Amino acid sequence: MTHSAAPATAIGLQALEERLQSDLELLELPAKSWVPPRTLHGDTVRDVVVIGGGMCGLAATAKLLFTGISNVVAYDAAPAGEEGPWITFARMETLRSPKTLHGPALGLPQLTFRAWFTAQWGAEAWQELDKIPKNQWMDYLVWYRQVLDLPVRNNVRITAITPIDDLIALDLTGAETGRIYTRRLVLATGRSGLGGAAIPDFLQGVDRRFWAHSADDIDFAALSGKSVAVIGAGASSMDNAATALEAGAAAVDMLIRRAEMPRINKMTGIGSQGVVHGMHRLADDWKWKFVDYTSASQTPPPRSSTLRVSRHPQAHFYLNCGIMAVREEGEGLAITTTQGEKHYDFLIAATGFANDFNGRPEFAAVAPFIRSWSDGRYTPEMGTPRASMLDAPDLGPDFEFREKVPGTCPQLAHIYCFNDAAMLTHGKVSGDIPAVSAGAERLVRGITASLFAEDVASHYASLQAYDTPELQGDEWVDASPLLKKENAL
Ligand SMILES: Cc1cc2nc3c(=O)[nH]c(=O)nc-3n(C[C@H](O)[C@H](O)[C@H](O)COP(=O)(O)OP(=O)(O)OC[C@H]3O[C@@H](n4cnc5c(N)ncnc54)[C@H](O)[C@@H]3O)c2cc1C
Repeated sequence: MTHSAAPATAIGLQALEERLQSDLELLELPAKSWVPPRTLHGDTVRDVVVIGGGMCGLAATAKLLFTGISNVVAYDAAPAGEEGPWITFARMETLRSPKTLHGPALGLPQLTFRAWFTAQWGAEAWQELDKIPKNQWMDYLVWYRQVLDLPVRNNVRITAITPIDDLIALDLTGAETGRIYTRRLVLATGRSGLGGAAIPDFLQGVDRRFWAHSADDIDFAALSGKSVAVIGAGASSMDNAATALEAGAAAVDMLIRRAEMPRINKMTGIGSQGVVHGMHRLADDWKWKFVDYTSASQTPPPRSSTLRVSRHPQAHFYLNCGIMAVREEGEGLAITTTQGEKHYDFLIAATGFANDFNGRPEFAAVAPFIRSWSDGRYTPEMGTPRASMLDAPDLGPDFEFREKVPGTCPQLAHIYCFNDAAMLTHGKVSGDIPAVSAGAERLVRGITASLFAEDVASHYASLQAYDTPELQGDEWVDASPLLKKENAL
């Protein structure tokens, strides 16, 4: 038995970390540093900055370091251990994903959730574990970062991204302030990372006292005894409704536009390495077809989350219940639906996220130049012109942004969209747990090639300058003088 299997017994984290270290040594990871250093006005220029220290940011940072791109730093606005949704606005009890997924492990068995869990609680506990509790997933991500000693700086928000010559300037606030420069920038900014919450028109102008988006910091205790409407039929709608019910809401109505609950998780159903590695190489019309079909059929909420709502007698599901208008009325809301008018104290919009780059101040300098699928990549023969898909960035093969008008912002080729918004171009490899390692590998291969090409003159000069002999000169004797002598006789 080698070290590469998940430990069967609870060997403890220290022993697991020793095994991981030994595997890294066997694989010569991290690889030696190879990017020529660069400075600007005497200050170090980063090779790569990653915005976001959530799962994608961690996987990308780890892969960059493994590949010998060592002058890297990741920033996250959240405090350490609170990155991403897991212990903030994720209101489910467990992950939807099966516990066996290797997620950000980058092909290293000892870096998997399973190894981490089993090392602490043993194989029997692993067998008994059904789904991964969300807080435990966060604990695992915290360990992942620590054990790989990833350079993540917390409580730092990037407030502006400004292309300057062949570099990208980043303005920081929080625990670090000022301006830094980088050669490549990775946006691992999460599901809301390229825009923000998608807010339906009927909520525009309605006082925020009466409604929240599902990703907001909601005071659920204040909903005790209140009547609450939840819009949507996805996972977040169920988890928010359940949280409101568990906090003592007097009534929770699920207002669902569809006539039927989505029941089949289509993309998960066909999940395979073919999908992971093949989707991004498909012709555009096939990419559109897949995403359009799954958007139309919609991902169902998990069964456990749905039962978590329906077990409460004061929860009601209204299907075929589209919302036409919302207005404030006294200390609550009057909602005009296709099933008549309804009255609530509070509304939660579980309406997802949008790719509106213009909605994020940090992208203001580059947003107008970013090419979307609506800028010519989509053609009507592909299928329904779905707004959420038309807004998706039209990315290159390495997750890099492309310019709407060539020559207007060439630095976009050095900014990589490693988040959920890449899905239409790249498949689901930069957001969800199952294929994040494949996504990080694709990303880092691209950054590696791009940095190497940009520095090619320097690498060529190194080639010419390299003068350490491998042969000492005493390993052979040149026979030609002897031959010459013989011929002369
Ligand atoms: C509620 C919920 C439940 C989910 N459950 C599952 C599941 O069970 N299985 C699954 O496979 N997927 C799930 N997902 C999808 C996906 O796995 C998660 O969204 C995951 O967090 C994605 O990781 P990420 O690194 O892309 O983004 P995030 O984890 O959101 O990390 C992005 C980080 O970027 C930081 N950031 C953004 N902008 C800036 C800035 N300007 N400056 C500094 N920092 C910034 C944020 O603070 C954040 O920490 C879920 C998503 C949500 C929202």
